[in-house]
Amino acid sequence: MNRTPLNQMSAKREQALRDAGTYQPGSTFARPAPSPSQIGSSPGVRPEARARETRNPAPKPSRETGFTAAQRLLIRTRAGSGDPEQALCEACGIWLGRAGGQVHHRQNRQMGGSRRRNRVSNGALLCGTPEVGDHGEATRLAPRMKEMGFVLESWQKPEQEPFMLHGEQGGLLVWADDSGNYVDEDGNVLAAPERAA
Ligand SMILES: [Zn+2]
Repeated sequence: MNRTPLNQMSAKREQALRDAGTYQPGSTFARPAPSPSQIGSSPGVRPEARARETRNPAPKPSRETGFTAAQRLLIRTRAGSGDPEQALCEACGIWLGRAGGQVHHRQNRQMGGSRRRNRVSNGALLCGTPEVGDHGEATRLAPRMKEMGFVLESWQKPEQEPFMLHGEQGGLLVWADDSGNYVDEDGNVLAAPERAA
């Protein structure tokens, strides 16, 4: 008996099915993607396999900065004097907590090479976005932000350049190390500097 083989699936269709999560090798038919509740009750998926997927989602490209998540947390914790929930904008002192504001590169991305650029001492937690707020002012290289130490020249070393912490509320000149501390000129760690101010 002669059988007419099915046409090969087009690459475009296969990609569309893969994108929809319904690609079945050997089938040109789409299947509905399982709903989350179906996945949850599926006896075929071991719970630890599901947990692994949840714990290690695909890494999202960071549009914000080249800092790692761990570095951003160090900087946010520094800005909260040990508690990221209490993080304040390092320029103006407004409360940002765990999710507000963004980590800004004091020395901008074209300069210094990525190794220096992505050191914790080069990061500052600022309110706003690259367009608005203190982060916006720093991105636009506003003179005020240069004077406060949140914008550095290419020849400056971030760990050697202080910034005016919460400058608009009186301020305190601090240095930042690469371990997430505020330090003084001699490298002594400052504890809760805004309380000392
Ligand atoms: Zn601010």
